[in-house]
Amino acid sequence: MALKKCKECDKEISTDAKVCPQCGKPQPKRSPWGCAIVAVIAVIIFMFAISNQSPTTPRTPPVGSDPATATDEQIYREFEVCMNEAKKTVGDDKLKGQAIAGNCMLGLKKYGDKRAQKAFKLYFNL
Ligand SMILES: [Zn+2]
Repeated sequence: MALKKCKECDKEISTDAKVCPQCGKPQPKRSPWGCAIVAVIAVIIFMFAISNQSPTTPRTPPVGSDPATATDEQIYREFEVCMNEAKKTVGDDKLKGQAIAGNCMLGLKKYGDKRAQKAFKLYFNL
């Protein structure tokens, strides 16, 4: 079995010893699992960091599509994203909801009134 030095009394003791037989000092045990867990956590943090900053591979279509090529679906999505974001701050307040709907409609102006209205009606089931 391997030997190591006790940090307290500097005598050589077994690496398996939980307590130093010379001075009675508890010995910290370096389990291989400790390292493995640290590695796993590091990997998770790394993955998280990557997923947070990957502008090249967005899961949802990019907001703010080109007005010339945007589909009705994309316009609707943009409105939906805008509403969802705004709702996070105002909650279920109806009056404020109408105000943010107006705000989001302004964001759709670039697609023209007709297409903006269409997305609006689709969203509110009108
Ligand atoms: Zn010792």
